[in-house]
Amino acid sequence: MQQQIYKEAISASIFKYISKASQDLGIKSYVIGGFVRDYLLQRGNAKDVDVVAVGSGIALAEKVAELLPTKPKVQVFKTYGTAMLRYKDIEIEFVGARKESYSEESRNPEVEEGTLQDDQNRRDFTINALALSLNTEDFGLLLDPFNGVEDLTSKTIRTPLDPSITYSDDPLRMMRAIRFASQLNFTIEPRSLEAISKNSDRLKIITKERIVDELNKMMLSAKPSVGFLLLESTQLLPLILPELIALKGVEEVEGQKHKDNFYHTLEVVDNISKNTNDVWLRWAALLHDIGKAPTKKFHKKIGWTFHAHEFVGSKMVFKLFKRLKMPLNNKMKFVQKMVLLSSRPIVLASEVTDSAVRRLIFDAGDDIESLMTLCEADITTKNPNKFKKYHKNFELVRQKIKEVEERDHVRNFQPPITGELIMETFNLEPCREIGQLKEAIKEAILEGEIPNEYEASYQFMLEKGRSLGLMKD
Ligand code: ATP
Ligand code: MG
Repeated sequence: MQQQIYKEAISASIFKYISKASQDLGIKSYVIGGFVRDYLLQRGNAKDVDVVAVGSGIALAEKVAELLPTKPKVQVFKTYGTAMLRYKDIEIEFVGARKESYSEESRNPEVEEGTLQDDQNRRDFTINALALSLNTEDFGLLLDPFNGVEDLTSKTIRTPLDPSITYSDDPLRMMRAIRFASQLNFTIEPRSLEAISKNSDRLKIITKERIVDELNKMMLSAKPSVGFLLLESTQLLPLILPELIALKGVEEVEGQKHKDNFYHTLEVVDNISKNTNDVWLRWAALLHDIGKAPTKKFHKKIGWTFHAHEFVGSKMVFKLFKRLKMPLNNKMKFVQKMVLLSSRPIVLASEVTDSAVRRLIFDAGDDIESLMTLCEADITTKNPNKFKKYHKNFELVRQKIKEVEERDHVRNFQPPITGELIMETFNLEPCREIGQLKEAIKEAILEGEIPNEYEASYQFMLEKGRSLGLMKD
Protein backbone atom coordinates (compact mmCIF):
# COMPACT_ATOMS: atom_id res chain seq x y z
CA MET A 1 0.00 0.00 0.00
CA GLN A 2 1.10 3.50 -0.74
CA GLN A 3 2.35 5.40 2.29
CA GLN A 4 0.51 8.62 2.87
CA ILE A 5 2.05 11.50 4.78
CA TYR A 6 -0.17 14.22 6.25
CA LYS A 7 2.26 16.72 7.74
CA GLU A 8 -0.11 19.65 7.31
CA ALA A 9 -2.73 17.92 9.46
CA ILE A 10 -0.40 18.21 12.42
CA SER A 11 1.38 21.45 11.64
CA ALA A 12 0.10 23.21 14.79
CA SER A 13 2.98 23.83 17.21
CA ILE A 14 1.53 21.57 19.91
CA PHE A 15 2.34 18.50 17.80
CA LYS A 16 6.01 19.50 17.59
CA TYR A 17 6.12 19.63 21.38
CA ILE A 18 4.52 16.19 21.69
CA SER A 19 6.97 14.86 19.14
CA LYS A 20 9.92 16.29 21.05
CA ALA A 21 8.61 15.01 24.38
CA SER A 22 8.21 11.48 22.95
CA GLN A 23 11.74 11.60 21.63
CA ASP A 24 13.08 12.75 24.99
CA LEU A 25 11.29 9.84 26.70
CA GLY A 26 12.35 7.39 24.00
CA ILE A 27 8.77 6.33 23.20
CA LYS A 28 6.52 6.48 20.14
CA SER A 29 3.36 8.55 19.96
CA TYR A 30 0.51 9.05 17.52
CA VAL A 31 -2.55 11.25 17.02
CA ILE A 32 -5.49 8.91 16.73
CA GLY A 33 -9.27 8.77 16.28
CA GLY A 34 -11.69 11.64 15.76
CA PHE A 35 -9.07 14.29 15.00
CA VAL A 36 -7.59 12.31 12.11
CA ARG A 37 -11.02 11.27 10.83
CA ASP A 38 -12.33 14.85 10.87
CA TYR A 39 -9.17 16.17 9.20
CA LEU A 40 -9.55 13.73 6.32
CA LEU A 41 -13.25 14.55 6.05
CA GLN A 42 -12.36 18.26 6.08
CA ARG A 43 -14.82 18.83 8.90
CA GLY A 44 -12.82 21.76 10.22
CA ASN A 45 -10.15 21.77 12.88
CA ALA A 46 -11.16 19.57 15.77
CA LYS A 47 -10.46 21.10 19.15
CA ASP A 48 -10.10 17.81 20.92
CA VAL A 49 -7.11 15.70 20.12
CA ASP A 50 -6.39 12.14 21.26
CA VAL A 51 -2.79 11.04 21.52
CA VAL A 52 -1.72 7.47 22.10
CA ALA A 53 1.74 6.73 23.49
CA VAL A 54 3.41 3.35 23.25
CA GLY A 55 4.38 3.62 26.90
CA SER A 56 2.91 5.83 29.61
CA GLY A 57 0.40 8.39 28.42
CA ILE A 58 0.61 10.16 31.77
CA ALA A 59 4.40 10.48 31.61
CA LEU A 60 4.14 11.84 28.07
CA ALA A 61 1.56 14.43 29.11
CA GLU A 62 3.78 15.58 31.95
CA LYS A 63 6.79 15.85 29.67
CA VAL A 64 4.80 17.87 27.13
CA ALA A 65 3.59 20.25 29.86
CA GLU A 66 7.19 20.76 30.97
CA LEU A 67 8.30 21.68 27.44
CA LEU A 68 5.38 23.99 26.68
CA PRO A 69 6.03 27.71 27.30
CA THR A 70 2.68 28.03 29.11
CA LYS A 71 3.47 25.15 31.54
CA PRO A 72 -0.16 24.02 31.60
CA LYS A 73 -1.62 21.96 34.40
CA VAL A 74 -1.90 18.25 33.67
CA GLN A 75 -5.09 16.59 34.78
CA VAL A 76 -4.37 12.95 35.57
CA PHE A 77 -7.03 10.22 35.62
CA LYS A 78 -5.10 7.42 37.32
CA THR A 79 -7.83 4.77 37.12
CA TYR A 80 -8.03 5.15 33.34
CA GLY A 81 -4.30 5.71 32.84
CA THR A 82 -5.03 8.90 30.95
CA ALA A 83 -4.03 12.54 31.29
CA MET A 84 -5.28 15.77 29.78
CA LEU A 85 -3.91 19.21 29.18
CA ARG A 86 -4.92 22.33 27.32
CA TYR A 87 -2.75 24.41 25.05
CA LYS A 88 -4.15 27.44 23.26
CA ASP A 89 -7.72 26.36 22.51
CA ILE A 90 -6.88 22.69 22.01
CA GLU A 91 -7.63 19.97 24.54
CA ILE A 92 -5.25 17.04 24.32
CA GLU A 93 -5.91 13.70 25.90
CA PHE A 94 -3.03 11.26 26.35
CA VAL A 95 -3.41 7.53 26.78
CA GLY A 96 -0.95 4.62 26.79
CA ALA A 97 -1.45 2.09 23.99
CA ARG A 98 -3.42 -0.83 25.36
CA LYS A 99 -5.03 -4.16 24.86
CA GLU A 100 -8.48 -4.73 26.26
CA SER A 101 -10.48 -7.72 27.41
CA TYR A 102 -14.13 -7.49 28.34
CA SER A 103 -16.49 -9.27 30.71
CA GLU A 104 -20.27 -9.83 30.45
CA GLU A 105 -21.50 -7.33 33.01
CA SER A 106 -19.54 -4.22 32.32
CA ARG A 107 -18.38 -2.06 29.49
CA ASN A 108 -15.20 -1.33 31.40
CA PRO A 109 -12.55 -3.78 30.23
CA GLU A 110 -9.45 -5.20 31.85
CA VAL A 111 -6.54 -3.39 30.28
CA GLU A 112 -2.90 -4.22 29.78
CA GLU A 113 -0.13 -2.42 27.94
CA GLY A 114 -0.04 -3.05 24.22
CA THR A 115 1.31 -1.97 20.88
CA LEU A 116 -0.11 0.67 18.58
CA GLN A 117 -1.76 -2.15 16.63
CA ASP A 118 -3.39 -3.49 19.84
CA ASP A 119 -4.68 -0.02 20.51
CA GLN A 120 -6.09 0.36 17.02
CA ASN A 121 -7.83 -3.02 17.43
CA ARG A 122 -9.75 -1.75 20.43
CA ARG A 123 -11.14 1.25 18.56
CA ASP A 124 -14.81 1.19 17.65
CA PHE A 125 -14.75 1.88 13.92
CA THR A 126 -12.23 1.67 11.11
CA ILE A 127 -12.66 5.41 10.53
CA ASN A 128 -11.85 6.02 14.20
CA ALA A 129 -8.74 3.82 14.21
CA LEU A 130 -6.72 6.05 11.89
CA ALA A 131 -3.45 7.29 13.40
CA LEU A 132 -0.82 9.83 12.35
CA SER A 133 2.76 9.36 13.51
CA LEU A 134 4.27 12.09 15.68
CA ASN A 135 7.72 10.47 15.53
CA THR A 136 10.65 12.25 13.86
CA GLU A 137 11.52 9.43 11.45
CA ASP A 138 8.07 9.37 9.82
CA PHE A 139 6.26 12.49 11.11
CA GLY A 140 2.75 12.67 9.60
CA LEU A 141 2.68 9.07 8.32
CA LEU A 142 -0.86 7.67 8.24
CA LEU A 143 -1.31 4.27 9.89
CA ASP A 144 -4.49 2.71 8.62
CA PRO A 145 -4.53 -1.04 9.29
CA PHE A 146 -8.26 -1.52 8.53
CA ASN A 147 -8.66 0.56 5.39
CA GLY A 148 -10.40 3.33 7.27
CA VAL A 149 -9.63 5.78 4.46
CA GLU A 150 -11.52 3.59 2.04
CA ASP A 151 -14.46 3.58 4.43
CA LEU A 152 -14.28 7.36 4.67
CA THR A 153 -14.52 7.53 0.89
CA SER A 154 -17.38 5.07 0.63
CA LYS A 155 -19.02 6.60 3.73
CA THR A 156 -19.17 3.33 5.63
CA ILE A 157 -19.31 2.58 9.34
CA ARG A 158 -17.46 -0.69 9.94
CA THR A 159 -15.84 -2.19 13.01
CA PRO A 160 -12.17 -3.25 12.86
CA LEU A 161 -12.92 -6.66 14.40
CA ASP A 162 -15.95 -8.99 14.48
CA PRO A 163 -18.94 -6.62 14.88
CA SER A 164 -20.85 -8.97 17.12
CA ILE A 165 -18.01 -9.04 19.65
CA THR A 166 -17.30 -5.32 19.27
CA TYR A 167 -20.89 -4.33 20.12
CA SER A 168 -21.39 -6.93 22.81
CA ASP A 169 -18.13 -5.88 24.53
CA ASP A 170 -19.19 -2.26 24.72
CA PRO A 171 -22.83 -1.67 23.73
CA LEU A 172 -22.32 2.09 23.77
CA ARG A 173 -20.73 1.51 20.37
CA MET A 174 -24.20 0.70 18.99
CA MET A 175 -25.29 4.21 19.85
CA ARG A 176 -22.05 5.64 18.50
CA ALA A 177 -22.42 3.76 15.20
CA ILE A 178 -25.88 5.20 14.69
CA ARG A 179 -24.84 8.63 15.86
CA PHE A 180 -21.91 8.74 13.39
CA ALA A 181 -24.18 7.47 10.59
CA SER A 182 -26.55 10.33 11.31
CA GLN A 183 -23.91 12.99 11.94
CA LEU A 184 -21.71 12.15 8.95
CA ASN A 185 -24.44 10.79 6.70
CA PHE A 186 -22.67 7.42 6.49
CA THR A 187 -24.08 3.92 6.00
CA ILE A 188 -23.61 1.20 8.60
CA GLU A 189 -22.38 -1.94 6.84
CA PRO A 190 -24.92 -4.80 6.90
CA ARG A 191 -22.94 -7.11 9.21
CA SER A 192 -22.69 -4.33 11.75
CA LEU A 193 -26.40 -3.54 11.49
CA GLU A 194 -27.25 -7.17 12.11
CA ALA A 195 -24.92 -7.30 15.07
CA ILE A 196 -26.54 -4.22 16.57
CA SER A 197 -30.01 -5.75 16.24
CA LYS A 198 -28.74 -8.96 17.79
CA ASN A 199 -27.13 -7.13 20.71
CA SER A 200 -29.77 -4.44 21.23
CA ASP A 201 -30.71 -5.82 24.67
CA ARG A 202 -27.16 -5.19 25.85
CA LEU A 203 -27.94 -1.48 25.88
CA LYS A 204 -29.22 -1.97 29.42
CA ILE A 205 -25.68 -1.94 30.81
CA ILE A 206 -25.11 1.57 29.47
CA THR A 207 -25.83 4.56 31.67
CA LYS A 208 -28.67 6.87 30.67
CA GLU A 209 -26.33 9.85 30.58
CA ARG A 210 -24.18 8.30 27.88
CA ILE A 211 -27.18 7.26 25.85
CA VAL A 212 -28.52 10.81 26.02
CA ASP A 213 -25.12 12.25 25.00
CA GLU A 214 -25.32 10.23 21.82
CA LEU A 215 -28.99 11.09 21.29
CA ASN A 216 -28.14 14.77 21.53
CA LYS A 217 -25.37 14.45 18.96
CA MET A 218 -27.79 12.58 16.72
CA MET A 219 -30.38 15.26 17.29
CA LEU A 220 -27.90 17.92 16.20
CA SER A 221 -27.14 16.28 12.87
CA ALA A 222 -28.43 17.87 9.68
CA LYS A 223 -31.07 15.15 9.26
CA PRO A 224 -31.79 13.54 12.63
CA SER A 225 -34.34 11.12 11.14
CA VAL A 226 -31.40 9.08 9.81
CA GLY A 227 -30.42 8.26 13.38
CA PHE A 228 -33.93 7.68 14.70
CA LEU A 229 -34.86 5.38 11.81
CA LEU A 230 -31.72 3.35 12.49
CA LEU A 231 -32.56 3.19 16.20
CA GLU A 232 -35.96 1.91 15.21
CA SER A 233 -34.82 -0.69 12.70
CA THR A 234 -32.23 -2.09 15.12
CA GLN A 235 -34.77 -2.37 17.96
CA LEU A 236 -32.95 0.12 20.15
CA LEU A 237 -35.66 2.78 20.04
CA PRO A 238 -38.24 0.90 22.16
CA LEU A 239 -35.61 0.66 24.90
CA ILE A 240 -34.88 4.37 24.83
CA LEU A 241 -38.02 6.18 23.67
CA PRO A 242 -41.02 3.83 23.75
CA GLU A 243 -43.26 6.92 23.52
CA LEU A 244 -42.17 7.33 19.90
CA ILE A 245 -42.74 3.69 19.02
CA ALA A 246 -46.28 4.06 20.35
CA LEU A 247 -46.91 6.62 17.60
CA LYS A 248 -46.18 4.08 14.88
CA GLY A 249 -48.86 2.71 12.63
CA VAL A 250 -52.04 3.74 10.91
CA GLU A 251 -55.42 2.54 12.11
CA GLU A 252 -58.50 2.39 9.97
CA VAL A 253 -62.07 2.28 11.24
CA GLU A 254 -65.07 2.60 8.96
CA GLY A 255 -62.84 3.76 6.16
CA GLN A 256 -61.29 6.55 8.22
CA LYS A 257 -57.54 6.62 8.75
CA HIS A 258 -55.24 8.82 10.76
CA LYS A 259 -51.67 9.58 9.73
CA ASP A 260 -48.69 7.60 11.01
CA ASN A 261 -47.51 9.94 13.73
CA PHE A 262 -44.09 8.33 14.08
CA TYR A 263 -42.99 9.10 10.52
CA HIS A 264 -44.75 12.44 10.68
CA THR A 265 -42.76 13.30 13.82
CA LEU A 266 -39.46 12.44 12.16
CA GLU A 267 -40.34 14.67 9.24
CA VAL A 268 -41.08 17.50 11.64
CA VAL A 269 -37.69 17.02 13.30
CA ASP A 270 -35.92 17.10 9.93
CA ASN A 271 -37.90 20.19 8.94
CA ILE A 272 -37.11 22.10 12.09
CA SER A 273 -33.44 21.18 11.86
CA LYS A 274 -33.20 23.33 8.74
CA ASN A 275 -34.28 26.32 10.81
CA THR A 276 -32.77 25.90 14.24
CA ASN A 277 -29.68 24.50 15.92
CA ASP A 278 -31.31 24.69 19.32
CA VAL A 279 -31.19 21.11 20.54
CA TRP A 280 -34.15 21.70 22.89
CA LEU A 281 -36.38 23.04 20.17
CA ARG A 282 -35.45 19.93 18.18
CA TRP A 283 -36.41 17.82 21.21
CA ALA A 284 -39.72 19.66 21.33
CA ALA A 285 -40.31 18.71 17.69
CA LEU A 286 -39.50 15.08 18.50
CA LEU A 287 -41.92 15.01 21.40
CA HIS A 288 -44.66 17.38 20.21
CA ASP A 289 -47.09 14.56 19.38
CA ILE A 290 -46.26 11.93 22.04
CA GLY A 291 -49.56 12.62 23.76
CA LYS A 292 -51.38 11.32 20.68
CA ALA A 293 -50.88 7.65 21.49
CA PRO A 294 -52.63 7.65 24.90
CA THR A 295 -55.40 10.05 23.80
CA LYS A 296 -56.33 8.45 20.49
CA LYS A 297 -60.05 7.70 20.09
CA PHE A 298 -62.44 6.94 17.29
CA HIS A 299 -65.84 8.62 17.23
CA LYS A 300 -68.48 7.49 14.82
CA LYS A 301 -69.43 11.05 13.91
CA ILE A 302 -66.15 12.95 13.85
CA GLY A 303 -63.58 10.24 13.21
CA TRP A 304 -60.18 10.12 14.92
CA THR A 305 -59.51 12.52 17.79
CA PHE A 306 -56.54 13.12 20.07
CA HIS A 307 -58.30 15.24 22.63
CA ALA A 308 -55.96 17.19 24.96
CA HIS A 309 -52.93 15.41 23.54
CA GLU A 310 -50.84 18.57 23.99
CA PHE A 311 -51.55 18.64 27.71
CA VAL A 312 -51.03 14.89 28.15
CA GLY A 313 -47.88 15.12 26.03
CA SER A 314 -46.39 17.91 28.12
CA LYS A 315 -46.89 15.80 31.25
CA MET A 316 -45.19 12.88 29.51
CA VAL A 317 -42.18 15.08 28.77
CA PHE A 318 -41.43 15.28 32.48
CA LYS A 319 -41.56 11.50 32.96
CA LEU A 320 -39.44 10.93 29.89
CA PHE A 321 -36.76 13.41 30.97
CA LYS A 322 -36.75 11.89 34.43
CA ARG A 323 -36.41 8.35 33.14
CA LEU A 324 -33.52 9.32 30.87
CA LYS A 325 -31.88 11.28 33.69
CA MET A 326 -32.03 14.42 31.59
CA PRO A 327 -31.91 17.78 33.36
CA LEU A 328 -35.24 18.69 35.00
CA ASN A 329 -34.58 22.39 34.57
CA ASN A 330 -35.69 25.32 32.43
CA LYS A 331 -34.80 23.43 29.29
CA MET A 332 -37.27 20.73 30.20
CA LYS A 333 -39.87 23.36 31.01
CA PHE A 334 -39.27 24.93 27.61
CA VAL A 335 -39.87 21.58 25.90
CA GLN A 336 -43.04 21.08 27.96
CA LYS A 337 -44.26 24.54 27.05
CA MET A 338 -43.64 23.99 23.34
CA VAL A 339 -45.54 20.68 23.45
CA LEU A 340 -48.39 22.25 25.40
CA LEU A 341 -48.74 25.18 23.00
CA SER A 342 -47.94 23.25 19.83
CA SER A 343 -51.46 23.44 18.36
CA ARG A 344 -52.32 26.99 19.32
CA PRO A 345 -50.97 28.84 16.26
CA ILE A 346 -52.70 26.28 14.01
CA VAL A 347 -56.05 27.17 15.51
CA LEU A 348 -55.23 30.82 14.92
CA ALA A 349 -54.38 30.23 11.30
CA SER A 350 -58.05 29.78 10.44
CA GLU A 351 -59.33 32.77 12.40
CA VAL A 352 -56.95 35.44 13.60
CA THR A 353 -58.61 37.64 16.21
CA ASP A 354 -56.63 40.21 18.15
CA SER A 355 -57.58 38.74 21.50
CA ALA A 356 -56.52 35.21 20.51
CA VAL A 357 -53.19 36.59 19.30
CA ARG A 358 -52.74 38.52 22.56
CA ARG A 359 -53.42 35.35 24.54
CA LEU A 360 -50.92 33.39 22.52
CA ILE A 361 -48.23 36.05 22.97
CA PHE A 362 -49.05 36.17 26.67
CA ASP A 363 -48.77 32.38 27.08
CA ALA A 364 -45.69 31.88 24.88
CA GLY A 365 -43.81 34.98 26.07
CA ASP A 366 -40.28 35.12 24.70
CA ASP A 367 -40.70 31.65 23.19
CA ILE A 368 -43.24 32.81 20.63
CA GLU A 369 -40.67 32.74 17.83
CA SER A 370 -39.64 29.15 18.70
CA LEU A 371 -43.28 28.14 18.80
CA MET A 372 -43.91 29.53 15.31
CA THR A 373 -40.81 27.71 14.04
CA LEU A 374 -42.20 24.47 15.50
CA CYS A 375 -45.62 24.97 13.94
CA GLU A 376 -44.17 25.70 10.53
CA ALA A 377 -42.05 22.55 10.75
CA ASP A 378 -45.24 20.65 11.61
CA ILE A 379 -46.56 21.20 8.09
CA THR A 380 -45.80 17.90 6.39
CA THR A 381 -48.65 17.70 3.90
CA LYS A 382 -47.66 16.32 0.51
CA ASN A 383 -50.32 18.37 -1.22
CA PRO A 384 -48.49 21.39 -2.66
CA ASN A 385 -51.57 23.61 -2.58
CA LYS A 386 -52.26 22.90 1.06
CA PHE A 387 -48.55 23.26 1.85
CA LYS A 388 -48.54 26.73 0.35
CA LYS A 389 -51.79 27.71 1.99
CA TYR A 390 -50.72 26.63 5.49
CA HIS A 391 -47.41 28.47 5.22
CA LYS A 392 -49.21 31.56 4.02
CA ASN A 393 -51.59 31.36 6.95
CA PHE A 394 -48.70 31.20 9.39
CA GLU A 395 -47.14 34.15 7.62
CA LEU A 396 -50.33 36.07 8.45
CA VAL A 397 -50.22 34.86 12.05
CA ARG A 398 -46.64 36.07 12.35
CA GLN A 399 -47.58 39.45 10.93
CA LYS A 400 -50.50 39.73 13.30
CA ILE A 401 -48.29 38.80 16.23
CA LYS A 402 -45.92 41.58 15.27
CA GLU A 403 -48.68 44.15 14.96
CA VAL A 404 -50.42 43.22 18.18
CA GLU A 405 -47.18 43.06 20.13
CA GLU A 406 -46.06 46.46 18.88
CA ARG A 407 -49.35 47.94 20.00
CA ASP A 408 -50.19 46.05 23.19
CA HIS A 409 -46.87 44.85 24.63
CA VAL A 410 -48.20 41.72 26.32
CA ARG A 411 -45.12 39.60 25.52
CA ASN A 412 -43.60 39.89 28.97
CA PHE A 413 -46.78 40.95 30.63
CA GLN A 414 -46.27 42.97 33.81
CA PRO A 415 -49.57 43.75 35.54
CA PRO A 416 -50.03 47.55 35.31
CA ILE A 417 -51.71 47.45 38.73
CA THR A 418 -49.85 45.83 41.61
CA GLY A 419 -51.37 43.94 44.51
CA GLU A 420 -50.02 46.63 46.82
CA LEU A 421 -51.92 49.35 45.00
CA ILE A 422 -55.13 47.34 45.20
CA MET A 423 -54.64 46.86 48.95
CA GLU A 424 -53.94 50.54 49.44
CA THR A 425 -56.84 51.72 47.31
CA PHE A 426 -59.46 49.59 49.03
CA ASN A 427 -57.76 49.49 52.41
CA LEU A 428 -57.46 45.72 52.37
CA GLU A 429 -55.44 43.14 54.26
CA PRO A 430 -54.11 40.27 52.07
CA CYS A 431 -57.23 38.44 50.80
CA ARG A 432 -58.76 36.54 47.89
CA GLU A 433 -60.27 39.63 46.25
CA ILE A 434 -56.83 41.03 45.41
CA GLY A 435 -56.03 38.04 43.21
CA GLN A 436 -59.50 38.24 41.66
CA LEU A 437 -59.02 41.87 40.76
CA LYS A 438 -55.58 41.30 39.28
CA GLU A 439 -56.92 38.41 37.21
CA ALA A 440 -59.88 40.50 36.01
CA ILE A 441 -57.55 43.31 34.88
CA LYS A 442 -55.34 40.87 33.01
CA GLU A 443 -58.37 39.26 31.34
CA ALA A 444 -59.76 42.64 30.31
CA ILE A 445 -56.42 43.54 28.71
CA LEU A 446 -56.08 40.24 26.88
CA GLU A 447 -59.69 40.44 25.68
CA GLY A 448 -59.04 43.95 24.42
CA GLU A 449 -61.66 45.56 26.66
CA ILE A 450 -59.06 47.99 27.95
CA PRO A 451 -55.58 48.92 26.69
CA ASN A 452 -52.50 47.63 28.49
CA GLU A 453 -51.99 50.93 30.34
CA TYR A 454 -51.99 52.22 33.89
CA GLU A 455 -54.76 54.81 33.70
CA ALA A 456 -57.31 52.55 31.98
CA SER A 457 -56.44 49.69 34.29
CA TYR A 458 -56.84 51.93 37.33
CA GLN A 459 -60.33 52.99 36.28
CA PHE A 460 -61.23 49.40 35.52
CA MET A 461 -59.98 48.38 38.98
CA LEU A 462 -62.17 51.00 40.66
CA GLU A 463 -65.29 49.83 38.83
CA LYS A 464 -64.55 46.16 39.33
CA GLY A 465 -63.78 46.76 42.98
CA ARG A 466 -67.07 48.52 43.48
CA SER A 467 -68.96 45.67 41.86
CA LEU A 468 -67.22 43.28 44.26
CA GLY A 469 -68.50 45.42 47.10
CA LEU A 470 -65.12 46.91 47.97
CA MET A 471 -65.05 50.50 49.15
CA LYS A 472 -62.53 53.09 48.17
CA ASP A 473 -61.10 55.04 51.14
P1 ATP B 1 -16.49 13.13 18.66
O1 ATP B 1 -15.43 13.81 19.46
O2 ATP B 1 -16.98 13.86 17.48
O3 ATP B 1 -17.61 12.64 19.51
P2 ATP B 1 -14.62 10.99 18.47
O4 ATP B 1 -14.45 9.86 17.50
O5 ATP B 1 -13.46 11.88 18.67
O6 ATP B 1 -15.89 11.80 18.00
P3 ATP B 1 -14.49 10.48 21.26
O7 ATP B 1 -15.56 10.03 22.18
O8 ATP B 1 -13.86 11.81 21.43
O9 ATP B 1 -15.11 10.36 19.81
O10 ATP B 1 -13.38 9.34 21.27
C1 ATP B 1 -12.11 9.48 20.70
C2 ATP B 1 -11.66 8.18 20.07
O11 ATP B 1 -11.66 7.15 21.05
C3 ATP B 1 -12.57 7.66 18.97
O12 ATP B 1 -12.26 8.21 17.72
C4 ATP B 1 -12.33 6.18 19.02
O13 ATP B 1 -11.13 5.85 18.38
C5 ATP B 1 -12.12 5.94 20.49
N1 ATP B 1 -13.37 5.54 21.18
C6 ATP B 1 -14.22 6.36 21.84
N2 ATP B 1 -15.22 5.67 22.39
C7 ATP B 1 -15.00 4.38 22.09
C8 ATP B 1 -15.67 3.16 22.39
N3 ATP B 1 -16.80 3.16 23.09
N4 ATP B 1 -15.13 2.01 21.93
C9 ATP B 1 -13.99 2.03 21.21
N5 ATP B 1 -13.32 3.13 20.89
C10 ATP B 1 -13.80 4.30 21.33
MG1 MG C 1 -13.35 13.45 20.08
